[in-house]
Amino acid sequence: MICLGIESTAHTFGIGICDDKGRILANERSVYKPKKGWGIVPMEAGKHHEETRDGVLRKALEKSGKRMEDVDLITYSRGPGLPPCLYKGMEFAKNLAGENKIPLIGVNHCVAHIEIGRLTSGFKDPVVVYVSGGNTQIISFSESRYRVFGECMDIGIGNALDKFGRSVGLDFPQAPKIEQLAKKGKWIDLPYVVKGMDLSFSGIVTACLNKHKSGEPLENLCYSIQEVFFSMLTEVTERALAHLGKDQVLLTGGVAANLRLQEMLNKMAKERKGKFAVVPRELSGDNGAMIAWNGLIAHKSGQKSSRDVDSRWRTDDVDVPWVK
Ligand code: AMP
Ligand code: MG
Repeated sequence: MICLGIESTAHTFGIGICDDKGRILANERSVYKPKKGWGIVPMEAGKHHEETRDGVLRKALEKSGKRMEDVDLITYSRGPGLPPCLYKGMEFAKNLAGENKIPLIGVNHCVAHIEIGRLTSGFKDPVVVYVSGGNTQIISFSESRYRVFGECMDIGIGNALDKFGRSVGLDFPQAPKIEQLAKKGKWIDLPYVVKGMDLSFSGIVTACLNKHKSGEPLENLCYSIQEVFFSMLTEVTERALAHLGKDQVLLTGGVAANLRLQEMLNKMAKERKGKFAVVPRELSGDNGAMIAWNGLIAHKSGQKSSRDVDSRWRTDDVDVPWVK
């Protein structure tokens, strides 16, 4: 079975093609970049997706060596995400499925991040640290669903890093630039905000901006914001492992690219005699291949067709009958 998956929740319009052995045959994308000094403008991102989607489809088919006639299933990101972006993806998926008479199903973007990670790592029952632009969740399987054991209470960790970087004059995406600057910085005191199992990032961004105004070197702020954000995440992840009695940590989402975050989680997992894995970069940020793979296993386990979007669809609202 060949499945074509469409990702369009935020900045990325992606199309991935996979087969039922979990082989990724194509994973193409086009990424919307906001104007200098701006964050994502949802309507503009939607327009970007509309303008680039035909080209991304052409490239994905070319790369996979397949034609539309070879595709058995179309899947798309049904949510969560920015409504104008979700609609552009769903519309495109619906038209492709209709024109070619192929079944269509919508999948949850966060669950797709988990499933592609289970595929690449081989982990059966991990605690997943899902850190992206808009999402920050510590997730694990329990009683028929992926449950969220901890999450951000305000903005996602990637957006928090990007927002801090933008306010001090760095270009989008700012977080990788913060990672580079952090290498030359030293520790300065910042708030540390963990409440139970949940995390809050926005007050720490404000504290950094206040220190920036009073002349603190940028390198020190970059180093310290990373140390404090990633320590908070590591603390909550360790508590989830301990309470659940699990020993595998799987890191995914765009922020998973950060080497310092990988190092901290790896060290914590090893100290507990557990295992750590990070999803490869081309599959950890938003991408179409994860939507294809998740859609394929959902379809095989009997998930019904959908033709709508749900911008607030939570990870723990999704039935995952394919997980044993
Ligand atoms: P996603 O929404 O999963 O595609 O992830 C995008 C987010 O990942 C953006 O906020 C980026 O700034 C962030 N990101 C990308 N590379 C890095 C990095 N090296 N360190 C931290 N965050 C990163
Ligand atoms: Mg994502």
